[in-house]
Amino acid sequence: MRPPGSPEERHPSLDSKIVAALDRVGDALAVLARRAAGSHDLSPTQMRVLVRLYYGPPPEAVAGELAREFDVADPTVSDALAALARKGLIERSPDPADRRRHVLRLTVAGQAAAHAVARWTAPAEVASSGLSRAEGEALLATLLDLIARMNAAGMLSVARTCTTCQHFERGSAPGARPVLHHCRYYGYTMGPSDLRVDCAEHTARSGLA
Ligand code: SF4
Repeated sequence: MRPPGSPEERHPSLDSKIVAALDRVGDALAVLARRAAGSHDLSPTQMRVLVRLYYGPPPEAVAGELAREFDVADPTVSDALAALARKGLIERSPDPADRRRHVLRLTVAGQAAAHAVARWTAPAEVASSGLSRAEGEALLATLLDLIARMNAAGMLSVARTCTTCQHFERGSAPGARPVLHHCRYYGYTMGPSDLRVDCAEHTARSGLA
């Protein structure tokens, strides 16, 4: 009999172990985000906003779309935007198409700050680079499938992955090698490492965000 409080008891099923492992990865990424943001006098949310604006749409450069992107409440993003504006890193101007909204733009100082923090995930990539190519491709495919399921279940508001895209044709023979998929938008064949996590041309399959 396992002793009370043992790790096996805390995570008694495969599913609970998978989720606990993902939670730990999330903890590590949160630490990285805090460190990178803190070294530039930013909060993690401020840093994420800067990086999103730096790489350009999607999402649209407006507060509501950013809140949806990060799955946070509107006031959380509004506070971050106010702080970034005070620091001279972003500018807000009325949207000509809808005067109730403000379009966000990085200032020159904001561009420099965003460039400095844009690669904040690099230390985690060093860790994942220890996987073999086959392990990495299998992990990417699994994570993209999981993201699609979480998006379908309403746990993630936004998912611009191939696995949620109406242009995606999954490789027809499960288990076949090599696994080749097809993107109807670009008209090209995709190997396992070509799958995208955040594609600007993504079009959600019906019923998905
Ligand atoms: S449009 Fe982008 S997200 Fe959609 S299948 Fe093609 S590469 Fe993937």
